[in-house]
Amino acid sequence: MTSHFINSQLSSNAASHPTLSVIVPVLNESEGLIEFHRRLSGALESLALDVEILFVNDGSSDDSIDVIKMLQHKDCRIGVIDLSRRFGKELAVSAGIDHARGDAVVLIDADLQDPPECIVEMVKAWRKGFDVVAMQRADRSVDTLFKRVSASVFYRLLSWLSPVNIPPGVGDFRLLSRRAVDALKQLRERNRYMKGLYAWVGFNYIELPYRREARHAGDSKWPIGKLLGLAVDGITSFSIAPLRLASYIGLITALGAFVYGLVIVVKTMVYGDPVAGFPALMVTITFLGSVQLLAIGVLGEYLGRMFVETKRRPMYLVRSTNLPTLPLPVQESTSTMAAIHV
Ligand code: UDP
Ligand code: MG
Repeated sequence: MTSHFINSQLSSNAASHPTLSVIVPVLNESEGLIEFHRRLSGALESLALDVEILFVNDGSSDDSIDVIKMLQHKDCRIGVIDLSRRFGKELAVSAGIDHARGDAVVLIDADLQDPPECIVEMVKAWRKGFDVVAMQRADRSVDTLFKRVSASVFYRLLSWLSPVNIPPGVGDFRLLSRRAVDALKQLRERNRYMKGLYAWVGFNYIELPYRREARHAGDSKWPIGKLLGLAVDGITSFSIAPLRLASYIGLITALGAFVYGLVIVVKTMVYGDPVAGFPALMVTITFLGSVQLLAIGVLGEYLGRMFVETKRRPMYLVRSTNLPTLPLPVQESTSTMAAIHV
């Protein structure tokens, strides 16, 4: 508990690395970035910590990168990781996590839906010894009814299917301690369902409630198709239950077919063999056919993911990085640091 506090104090003095890294994935957010930076800076001011703010440009097609560079001229704490193309938010966040150097890392959206002012509370919780401080949406009133209902159904399904407890109502807005970040960095899977990965690493976890605001500018980048894809990723990355389900359905239908076969044999022996039963035949064939297709589809989902993993491609590619140069004044004795880390 206290080691966190002492670490951050030490690094504040030594400034060999920032205490806090704020990671901001950016896709076409140029309209709102200046206001975002203003509010973030205001929130960070009260903390008086060494901070780096890493914007990860996820292949924006507007002038987001220019706005970030402009902000960088004004604020030397800003760094930019410019990805070679759009890789999606999950990978943009992963790129930020890989490059972050802070003792704690905060993940926050650029659209001001996650209020930067919450960071103060998150840091307080971290100093109390929590490794993962997840912000939980107190209400989802800014979401459409469809998004609320589908999210609730999905989380219920996921918690039922998955052995890892993935809490509902929390997203990427969170603080991670250095050891949680280091653990997360070891998970190099390509299909990244981040909420599941955060849950998988465990450690001391706390949820703080917050009110999610409406977007400051621009539109959400999650059309229904993408959300559905994310849901399938979430389930297949964290549960093999659908595979098992296919086997169970197979078993049950096989048992049913066996019993039905017996019935037919007995019936034929007792009543002879009139040419009948066409509807029953059709129903059986179509039912079994669709169950088989479903099972093959489920297999395909997992096989596809294995295919992607076996290629072992890098998760993302970086066009350029420009991290804040760290001021490296007089270093504290490293032996003290090491002793405290242990
Ligand atoms: N984002 C990104 N890549 C994407 C989609 C989104 O980097 O492919 C960023 C986006 O710029 C924002 C954050 O991720 O900072 C959240 O995106 P959005 O607001 O569209 O998601 P929502 O709030 O609707 O879940
Ligand atoms: Mg948003």
